[in-house]
Amino acid sequence: MDSIIEFRNVKKRYDEVVAVDDVSFKVNKKDFIAIIGPNGGGKSTILKLLLKLIEPTEGSILIDNDVKISYVPQKLDTDLSFPISIMDVVLSGRINQKKIFFAKYNEDDIKKANELLKKLNLYDIRHKQIGELSGGQLQKTIIIRALMSDCNVLLLDEPTSSIDSKSKKEIYELLLEINKEITIMMVSHDVNEITNVVKGFLYINTKIHYHSDSENVNHSVCPIDKLISFNRSLIDDSYFSGMKG
Ligand code: ADP
Ligand code: MG
Repeated sequence: MDSIIEFRNVKKRYDEVVAVDDVSFKVNKKDFIAIIGPNGGGKSTILKLLLKLIEPTEGSILIDNDVKISYVPQKLDTDLSFPISIMDVVLSGRINQKKIFFAKYNEDDIKKANELLKKLNLYDIRHKQIGELSGGQLQKTIIIRALMSDCNVLLLDEPTSSIDSKSKKEIYELLLEINKEITIMMVSHDVNEITNVVKGFLYINTKIHYHSDSENVNHSVCPIDKLISFNRSLIDDSYFSGMKG
């Protein structure tokens, strides 16, 4: 299968800090990859490199021309005291595409928003102000906004950290459904919860550490021609203990 994204020996240095080093991996269409690893391990840096928010110091990142990325950041930069509703936030996901200031949303936009809001049980409260929402409701709103763009790759940076378990479940169910069409890369600390959700893991601690199969449990840098993919059966708490921080 042809990959749509490839990192080749990527290094990113922020002044004296080397955030990621000699990182190589491939992503195929419709992959659902969890990016895991310790705090400061370089997970967010990988996503920012993919988004071209930052440039690699060394190495190259190849992204197919038809890849359209949407992103759910780790920290929300929206002012929560600003009087906007769930629906306003969701529909704002269309603005970048229309490239028109004060663009009017069309019926298809509203229909798509309503469908997603229903799936995540936000439809009945769609006119509620975002300042009044629980953490889970707010996170679901942000994810729907990201999905309002016509993306084929979705990046999420710790989308389920510190939210209630019901919202988590709803988010995972939605992600599983959209993964039939959309490639997903998700930074997460919930290793145990997501083993039945994702298709593979990419464990990054500055360098890439990986499991390719049960006979070959090693911690070496991944060779270029291997898709980073942990075997689910290998994941156990002892291996990942110390990861959360
Ligand atoms: P993670 O998301 O896995 O916690 P990050 O990619 O955010 O890790 O950070 C990796 C390393 O790079 C950390 O040591 C962090 O302090 C450093 N770092 C991240 N962003 C910057 C920045 N803008 N300037 C300087 N250092 C940074
Ligand atoms: Mg991070």
